[in-house]
Amino acid sequence: MDESKHFYDLIIIGGGISGSFIAEALSQDLRILILEAGINYKLKEYPIHEVHTSAKMYWGGGIEFNTDANIAFLRPKVVGGGSVINGALVDRFDDIAFDDWKGQTKVNFFNSKDMGPWYEKAESKFQIQYIPEEGRNGNAEIFAQGMKAKGFSYSPLRRAQKNCAYEEGNDCIECLSGCRIGSKQMMSVSTLERALQNGVELISQFEVENIEDHGDCVSVWGKHKKQRTFKFRSKKVVMAAGAIGNVRLLFKSGFGEKIPGIGKNFYTHPQYMNLGIFEKKIQSFKGALQAYKSSEPRFRQWGFKLENVFAPPAGLSMLIPGFGKKHMRQMKKIAHMSCIEVAIRDTEPGKMEQDRNGNFRIIKTLNAEDRKRRKLGLEIINDMFESCGASEIIEGKLPVGLHLMGGCGLGHDANESAVNPEFKLFDHKNIYVADSSIFPSAPGINPSLTVMALSLKATDQIAKGF
Ligand SMILES: Cc1cc2nc3c(=O)[nH]c(=O)nc-3n(C[C@H](O)[C@H](O)[C@H](O)COP(=O)(O)OP(=O)(O)OC[C@H]3O[C@@H](n4cnc5c(N)ncnc54)[C@H](O)[C@@H]3O)c2cc1C
Repeated sequence: MDESKHFYDLIIIGGGISGSFIAEALSQDLRILILEAGINYKLKEYPIHEVHTSAKMYWGGGIEFNTDANIAFLRPKVVGGGSVINGALVDRFDDIAFDDWKGQTKVNFFNSKDMGPWYEKAESKFQIQYIPEEGRNGNAEIFAQGMKAKGFSYSPLRRAQKNCAYEEGNDCIECLSGCRIGSKQMMSVSTLERALQNGVELISQFEVENIEDHGDCVSVWGKHKKQRTFKFRSKKVVMAAGAIGNVRLLFKSGFGEKIPGIGKNFYTHPQYMNLGIFEKKIQSFKGALQAYKSSEPRFRQWGFKLENVFAPPAGLSMLIPGFGKKHMRQMKKIAHMSCIEVAIRDTEPGKMEQDRNGNFRIIKTLNAEDRKRRKLGLEIINDMFESCGASEIIEGKLPVGLHLMGGCGLGHDANESAVNPEFKLFDHKNIYVADSSIFPSAPGINPSLTVMALSLKATDQIAKGF
């Protein structure tokens, strides 16, 4: 790599969902470089073992925590970002989510009508399917049976996938380590792939450590494979390193002192996975990993949603209390376990900070309202399992944050947000942000489709800037 040769129109930091969408949309007109900290896997190279997935495809060796070490965060680090390791569920936001954002920020385009065309455009970039009946496994049946018994409405999940061919024995639990058959519509088989075909350059295993705005251009530097430092320059930069990644980088680069909104309003949709153990075999790891979600309007009012889900064994083992033989006896029942998660729409804003010594920390707690939402969700799950005849119920105690959102909120108020409605970092006309870090609050809905739609909307603004 000879950095002296490299002056780009646009550098994108982070080759995840937002970065890939922006790269493809602008790839015909601009010279673009993507710098991504994670590995660029070919389909058949995705790790097979769960432990390798954690170590190689996530920051922090698999798991990161808040300062109290009582909320776990899973943060992808791989070319394609969250699209490679996530559940690929794609949902549009409803009016409840947008009204909340608009009320909080006074940003006019936060509404279903204005966002509609951007959702449509995003949805045209990959295949979407509802989970077909033949893919629904024993875990999905328990979910449906329990929801029916309790009189709650539910619906099939909408997923970014092409054809999972369950009849050939494909089990979607494997694609949490990257979909080796390329059915899941990861960025690496959709938008990013096309961007690279159009000439976008990608350097993987490159962790950006600093950015500096010179007014007429921006410098970006960091380490390739943790060794040599390289510096690049571009006319404009898009920060697409995700909620924690962007905030961390902005603090490191000294922007925290100038923009007080950086690091504020961090949300995670804490999820609690609950296990019901049954006499019969459930085989929750077969077929479609997830098939149903709650669509009960009362749940939306009460601030949570339920989904049928499962986890690979190492992840699952962390949910089961105890040690040694007792723990192993429980784990041996894995084929008899069903799992329903409650994901709460958290109301307590978290905060990311950097102290004087440069140490980064995440302060995130659950307030009384959040705990009330969790309790009610758990009670309903317990009732569902009981109505289906579970012999034992294990309540998930560890909240896991998979939807990492906020920290660079989009809005007008420099005390609460960091990015203006033109997707520019306050007072920095050449630095754009449109990923999950710009969410002003927790929507309570799967975030990735909205990250895509907002990223496409941002490309209009970025293109205008040239
Ligand atoms: C297990 C799991 C399941 C999920 N399931 C769903 C789901 O079914 N539906 C849904 O809507 N959402 C789901 N999500 C959440 C969804 O994946 C994220 O909301 C989404 O990926 C956010 O997109 P993004 O572009 O903001 O960031 P990401 O897609 O996370 O991309 C950010 C990228 O930036 C890179 N990066 C960070 N810092 C640096 C740096 N300093 N230098 C270079 N690169 C850097 C990271 O390595 C990463 O690849 C799930 C998440 C997880 C963890």
